[in-house]
Amino acid sequence: MSTREIRSWLLDMDGVLVREEHAIPGADAFIARLRELGIPFLLLTNSSIYTRRDLAARLAAGGLDVPEDSIWTAALATAGFLADQNPGGSAYVVGESGLTTALYKAGYTINERDPDYVVLGETRTYSFERITKAIRLISAGASFVATNPDNIGPTPDGPLPATGSVAALISRATGVEPYFVGKPNPLMMRSALNAINAHSEHTVMVGDRMDTDIVAGLEAGLETILVMSGVTAREEVGRYPYRPSRVVESVQELIPELGGAARNDGPGEASKAAGLDEAPISAAPPSEG
Ligand SMILES: [Mg+2]
Repeated sequence: MSTREIRSWLLDMDGVLVREEHAIPGADAFIARLRELGIPFLLLTNSSIYTRRDLAARLAAGGLDVPEDSIWTAALATAGFLADQNPGGSAYVVGESGLTTALYKAGYTINERDPDYVVLGETRTYSFERITKAIRLISAGASFVATNPDNIGPTPDGPLPATGSVAALISRATGVEPYFVGKPNPLMMRSALNAINAHSEHTVMVGDRMDTDIVAGLEAGLETILVMSGVTAREEVGRYPYRPSRVVESVQELIPELGGAARNDGPGEASKAAGLDEAPISAAPPSEG
């Protein structure tokens, strides 16, 4: 992949900036540098439970200072997708406030009788009644959309069933597959690019998962950087039929590349990174809005 001038950044949250709600070392300095230099960026999450304001507060509690408008969720992408496809439509929602708030803001109404869509998101309190209702509405003709395909979510106590698993239950009962909006659908990347007026040829996607972040970034035409601070181990990278533009230990290693008078924390362990080709990323001009 050729070297491109990077002007904006899309960043996965879990495994890239935070782990179990605590900032990954260097993440705070990385975000602070982006903000200092006025470089456009967006944090991406497939989660649809929380609103951006909730997420900003949770990140702050974990040690990361991020403005709420620098956060992009699968709920926002889903609401934007629906508003674009069918403006002013209606939905029956199985999900939390992050999703219902996004749908209301996108001009949707909530309808429990004959909605245009059943929209499934992540929740911690899946109710048998709501799932039954969703199944009946889909069987009666409502279209089925889900915020993201993740089957499980990690917690300190072990995996938690997530949107993809509940979608499978509903699909099994109805024979209808949902349209998934979140990663790895490149639609998630495109909606994020639109949200910050960025262009794919000058944007990089940083993620910790090959099968979501990296493939979605690739399919959306972005430069991609895989970090080793999350779920993917270096030896797994070669098993995929696609590869990231580069591999780094963590976002800490990317700070000097952001440009300006970078504080040099020293190369440290960063330099013994990548078994893959390392195409350097040129620094973003601070003037770029
Ligand atoms: Mg991740």
